[in-house]
Amino acid sequence: MKVLVINCGSSSLKYQLFEMDNESVLAKGLVERIGIAGSRIKHTKTGMDPVVKETDIPDHNVAFKEVTTMLLDDRYGVIKSLGELAAVGHRVVHAGEKYAGSVLVTKDVIDALTECIPLAPLHNPANLMGINAVTEALPDIPQVGVFDTAFHQTMPSHAYIYGIPYEYYEKYKIRRYGFHGTSHLYVSNRAAEMLGKPIESLKIITCHMGNGSSITAVQGGKSVDTTLGFGTTPGVIMGTRSGDLDPVIIPYLMQQEGFDTKSISDLLNKKSGLLGISGVSSDLRDVEEASEKGNSRAQLAESILYYGVKKYIGAYAAAMGGVDAIVFTAGIGENCPKGRETICSGLEFMGVKLDREKNATRGKDRFINADDSAVKVLVIPTDEELVIARDTKRITLEG
Ligand code: ADP
Repeated sequence: MKVLVINCGSSSLKYQLFEMDNESVLAKGLVERIGIAGSRIKHTKTGMDPVVKETDIPDHNVAFKEVTTMLLDDRYGVIKSLGELAAVGHRVVHAGEKYAGSVLVTKDVIDALTECIPLAPLHNPANLMGINAVTEALPDIPQVGVFDTAFHQTMPSHAYIYGIPYEYYEKYKIRRYGFHGTSHLYVSNRAAEMLGKPIESLKIITCHMGNGSSITAVQGGKSVDTTLGFGTTPGVIMGTRSGDLDPVIIPYLMQQEGFDTKSISDLLNKKSGLLGISGVSSDLRDVEEASEKGNSRAQLAESILYYGVKKYIGAYAAAMGGVDAIVFTAGIGENCPKGRETICSGLEFMGVKLDREKNATRGKDRFINADDSAVKVLVIPTDEELVIARDTKRITLEG
């Protein structure tokens, strides 16, 4: 059974074609600069070098056509006809309070996701364009929506209600939603597998640290708290996002600098975090390099990130009444031994003891705790596409 997984941004479309009989990736690629000059598709058939085609791609419908052309190509393709595609799975960012799991895309689902546009104005319209492009090209193919917010719908109300008048939750649905759910779900389940224990019996803290970051408390396989919230700015500092902030700073800065809502939103989402503090870059590799050369603001930015993660590990261990395993994932979590060591140092009091040699690892599943560590510490490369492909297969077969 072949399942195509699609992740649409406002000017991009990422795809992976899975053979679900053995969960292998047959081909993957990225369409970039949709609707902008210089648009192109980069396609990789597994086992071959990537191929790049530069062509005019004005919208997501044309982008999807280019994807199918590549998949059918004599040389770089992996299928003979589009009929071989059994289903398409879409990454969708926001499903509000409507869905706590993946669903078959129907008119009602599209309406619900459209209703969530005010909650995710940058992402949901692009995700819907992807669904629409597939419907145009392949009207009869089953499509499944897999939502970033779904995994966190198990949070108790004391974790998701903010301390503002309750009427705004009722009126505007202002609450913590959380994101990166598919990643937290994947790595927590994989951790249970690696531990050889049922996930129902485990308390796991998952640290998804990439350009965007979030930490999640997963108790018995369910998200019980997470650092991202109504939007994608809170929690630990990120590449360009501020992380937690005293809310009073916002009106104060607006007053002092004459910012309007767009300028303050740009400041918090695009100019803050690692970039804003270091003044060097939003990319941790650049920040690390500057920091090694003695740049004190780069050093400060790193410290703030690692301190933030450490603090949430403590908080979530308290929230769950203990922790069995801590998982690091995504670009930073998978690839940055220094960060993992800094975060875990000082947590020996709660049973966390890292093995420095095992920690010198990048990008593969591995235990990095010392043998006598009460809490297991793991590096697990995330695989959101695989979760989407699995859910798509399951829901399509269920009909
Ligand atoms: P996104 O959230 O956009 O998917 P990623 O998960 O790819 O982002 O994470 C990107 C982050 O990972 C960047 O800050 C990058 O510097 C960091 N990263 C990638 N490789 C390394 C590395 N070898 N050492 C430290 N940081 C790394």
